[in-house]
Amino acid sequence: MDKTIIVTGGAGFIGSHTIIELLQQTNYNVVSIDNYSNSGKETYNRIEKITGKKINYFELDLCDWGSLDKNLSALKNIAGVIHFAAFKSVPESMTDPLLYYHNNIESLVNILRFCKEKNIPNFIFSSSCSVYGNINKLPVTEDSPLTKAESPYAYTKQVGEQIVDSFTKTNTDFSSVILRYFNPVGAHKSAQIGELPLGPPTSLVPIITRTAIGLISKMHVHGDTYNTRDGSCIRDYIHVTDIADAHVKAIQYLIENKNKHNVSLFNLGTGTGVTVLEAINSFEKVTGLKLNYEIGLRRDGDVESIYANNNLAKQELNWEPKFNIDAMMLSAWKWQQHLSEIKKN
Ligand code: UDP
Repeated sequence: MDKTIIVTGGAGFIGSHTIIELLQQTNYNVVSIDNYSNSGKETYNRIEKITGKKINYFELDLCDWGSLDKNLSALKNIAGVIHFAAFKSVPESMTDPLLYYHNNIESLVNILRFCKEKNIPNFIFSSSCSVYGNINKLPVTEDSPLTKAESPYAYTKQVGEQIVDSFTKTNTDFSSVILRYFNPVGAHKSAQIGELPLGPPTSLVPIITRTAIGLISKMHVHGDTYNTRDGSCIRDYIHVTDIADAHVKAIQYLIENKNKHNVSLFNLGTGTGVTVLEAINSFEKVTGLKLNYEIGLRRDGDVESIYANNNLAKQELNWEPKFNIDAMMLSAWKWQQHLSEIKKN
């Protein structure tokens, strides 16, 4: 019987792209768990259309231990869990910190408890470059010190990493990889799936594409007085398909017992820092469109500048990001256009 991988948050942005890569690159069965708090079930139909394969899925909230235990107990031959399910908006976490502390921490504790009770040996945790805080020495390596979390969201990732670390160290049969994502953007090359926040988006790229298509009348660059080359914040944008591919490599790394450290940590970024204004320019260049934007105020919780040293993931996981910022923007735009076509019909 083929091994099963549980993907939590499988209907979400990175989860759905990872399921596609898992189905296309491996023989694992995939079971997705989601409560659709920021996604929809129709994503599974799109995944099945793209891959021609079926997935099993459960609608449940990982914060509800009883429901988790009841629904998933019958699953057999589980080789690993990839845990994406979490809230991820920096600004939302600034206004509702308890929502983040409760959801992101309790769900993690429950899924680890499930791994323990079912003897599931491998675990991948979605972390974030936000754990580094405002750090002077760039690019950041996995050994860079973690500084004060600038937002409750970032704090949930710092604490989450510690939870994974201490749990893994006390369970010799358990092996984990923590992946620190920089800024995942873009969409699948089919343009059938992409980022689809249910409420108003807070991330840069969905705001850019929605402004271009006319759903947002004007967007704002959150500050141009930072100490960067054009005054706007620097991030390391990375194509979601590259991130998805890293998860396939990371779960295989764990299953093939290549993990040397019990818990391994990898930065997932391209290694290139891009300012907000450069991201906007890239979008305008590849689409030929003019974006309606103006410079606005700084946003609370933002770090000034961050980008990755990604050598460790390249060496250990044999991973190489393939897409540049132009390709990211173009794929995000094609997805936005596809969405507006669906809505018209
Ligand atoms: N940003 C912006 N205007 C927007 C949304 C985001 O200038 O409408 C900036 C934001 O301040 C940050 C960068 O874009 O400097 C990336 O923000 P995002 O929310 O996409 O990701 P984060 O780095 O906060 O996780």
